[in-house]
Formats: sequence, C-alpha cells, structure tokens
Amino acid sequence: KSLSVSSQARLFSTSRMCRTVMPAWVIDKYGSNDVLRFTKNASFPIIDFPNEVIVKVFAAGLNPLDVSMRGGYGAATLSMKRDPVNIKRSGSEFPLILGRDVSGVIMECGLDVKYFRERDEVWAAIPPWKQGSLAEFVVLSANEVSHKPKSLNHTQAAAIPYVATTAWSALVNTGGLSKDNCANKRILILGGSGGVGTFAIQMLKAWGAHVTVTCSQNAEQFVKGLGADHVVDYTSGPVEEPLSALEKFDLILDNVGGDTERWALNLLKPWSGAKYVTLVTPFLQNTDMLGIADGMMQSAATMATKALKHLIKGVHYRWGFYAPSGPALDEIREMVDAGQIQAVVDETFNFSQVPQAFEKVEKGHARGKTVVQIS
Ligand code: NDP
Repeated sequence: KSLSVSSQARLFSTSRMCRTVMPAWVIDKYGSNDVLRFTKNASFPIIDFPNEVIVKVFAAGLNPLDVSMRGGYGAATLSMKRDPVNIKRSGSEFPLILGRDVSGVIMECGLDVKYFRERDEVWAAIPPWKQGSLAEFVVLSANEVSHKPKSLNHTQAAAIPYVATTAWSALVNTGGLSKDNCANKRILILGGSGGVGTFAIQMLKAWGAHVTVTCSQNAEQFVKGLGADHVVDYTSGPVEEPLSALEKFDLILDNVGGDTERWALNLLKPWSGAKYVTLVTPFLQNTDMLGIADGMMQSAATMATKALKHLIKGVHYRWGFYAPSGPALDEIREMVDAGQIQAVVDETFNFSQVPQAFEKVEKGHARGKTVVQIS
C-alpha cells in the first residue's frame, strides 16, 4: 500500500515478464448474476498490434451495458467485431471479461506507441468488443487511452470515461454541439441522474448552455448541485405536460427511451436545426434477433423512416452511440482538471464484491456511477 505508483509499476513490469495468467472476473456463458466467476487464471493480455498498450487496472467502472452484456445483449454484433471473418466457433468470446471503464497505469507499450510511456497514469473507455477491466490487466489501442486527470484518484477517474465518451459522441459528433456554440442554447436531458446524465449536465454547463433535466423527485437537489438550471420530476405525473409549458429546446439528449419519442420531438424548436438524440436504440437488439445483415437493414430502415417523419416537421431525429476516443478524453481531462467537471461516484466495491456491484447497477436508480477498486 505504501509503494508509490512508479514503484508499483516497476514491480509489476518485472513480474509481468514471467506472467501468463492474472486474476479476473469472467463469464463462461450468458445469464444472470450467478454466471460471474472469479479466477486467478485468466489469460494475461498480449500486445498483438504495435499501437497497443497493456494497462494495470486500479479501478473499473460499471455501466448498464455490463449487466446487459452479461445476459447476452449485443452478442451477435460484438462477436462479429471480435472475429469479422467468422473463423472461430460460436462461443469463442468466453471466458469473457466485462467492465468498460478503466483507470490505471501503463505497464507495456507496443513498438509504435509514441504518446505514452510505461508508468503513465491513464484512463479509458474500453470498447464492448474487447476484454474488459474487471481484471488485473487490460490491453487497449493507444488511441482509446488518455492521460488520467491529475486532480482525480483512480476510483474517481474510473467513473467518467464510458459515460463521457458516450455523451461526447452524442452531443458533439451527433448533436453538433461544441464549447463555442453552446452559449444560451436550451438543452433538455431526459434522465439526468445516472451516469450519462450527470456527466452531460456538467459538460453542457461548462460550455454555457441552459440545461433542463428530468429525474425522480429525490434526485432534484443532486442534479441542481451539478449545475442543472431547471428540474422536472418525472414521477409526479406525465412529464411531457410540464415540459410542454416551457420554452422550446435546441437539443434533447434522451437517456430514457421507451415512449419518450412519442412526445419529446414536439418540444424542439422547429426549422432551426434542433435535434433529438436518443441513446436508447434498437440497433443491437435487432442484430441479436435477426442476425447481422437483416438486423442492420432493419435498423437502417427504422432510422431512415423516423428521421424522415420528423424532418418534414422541421426537427432532426438521431441515434447516439458510445464511440471510443482518447482525444475526446484528453479534452475532458482538461475540463476535469480545470474544476469544471467532477466525478460522481454513487458507490464503490472492492474486487471481491463484483457480483454485488452488478446487483447495484441492475437495480437501477443510479445517482452517478458504480466503481470497483481492483488494486
Ligand atoms: P444509469 O443507469 O446510470 O442512469 C439511468 C438514470 O435514469 C437513473 O438515474 C434513473 O433514476 C433515471 N430514470 C429512469 N427512468 C427515468 C425516466 N422515465 N425519466 C427520467 N429519469 C429516469 O444509465 P446511464 O446514464 O449509464 O445510461 C442511460 C441510458 O443510455 C441507458 O439506457 C443506457 O443503456 C444507454 N446508453 C446507450 C449507449 C449507446 O451507445 N447507445 C451508451 C451508454 C448508455 P431513477 O430510476 O431513480 O429515476
């Protein structure tokens, strides 16, 4: 415990030479929480490409996606990403390691890695088709990794990357927002109290937007504390009624889905470039149910039909997706170290408590993030 990070890095760097296995939580089949298995004999990650780095995991953040993936969600598409030419037999993803957020220390760099060195403290959001962070080590492409904010410890840092890169992709890449065009824009976040919402509120406030949030009544003070200007309680009746009484919005970020699409687009300013971006899409369900080709065709058809239906009413309908991005995390790090964004950790668990951490995420009602301390 008293070793400095650099001493630990040296120690692990030396011990890594003779390591072929490591401790990890794995699943060997899809199912409920009892498929999670702790092993000391998970395969040690290997650098397969010269742009990869091996990271020693200090803390791992969990997301609703981990619970869904434990149950097999997205298996068809993710298997195709892992094995595009379909050489391996089905089920070859097992033993599968979950966990999408990592904060840790670089142990080893591939030959082409220039931006990082061994012992650098880093954070990253791990793409769902790669082995995750509920393990002692993880291998990542250098372009997915970023130097960790100096103002955060590893537990805090692991609460940010996946939700931050998702919010960044949805708001910046899909929604067209940036720090230079947000001033006084009216943004509505449906579902503001969870991981994505708590990050998005802070980023948009740092960029000068006016932010309205829907959440449960008991989260009102919590989201106001993160900067939300106006809060609407969705538990006290149909939330679209109080929202309709407000001035219309330039952008809506939907973290809730379900029937929100029925009414949310009416809250946008028509014929002004206003956008509705939803993170709750049928994309992976479609490929799980229909197979890759038919599922993608179905998604494209659904997306095109909805986009067109709303375009003729003067508003834009879009799907938002997580996108791995070290450069986005670099910009987010600057905002964190400038004090504009804080890590919102709901609850922490130690490495022996991974099943309890999954139970916590599965119960919903998140107020920020659930983080597992690995070492
Ligand atoms: P969390 O579980 O962290 O947060 C969800 C929050 O929504 C909770 O705080 C919950 O609190 C609140 N909530 C539930 N129902 C409503 C409602 N009707 N109105 C307002 N708030 C509500 O999830 P994340 O923030 O991590 O993710 C949000 C959604 O985005 C998830 O569905 C996730 O799967 C999806 N997602 C999609 C991605 C993509 O690539 N497309 C990537 C990342 C996330 P309470 O129940 O107490 O109200």
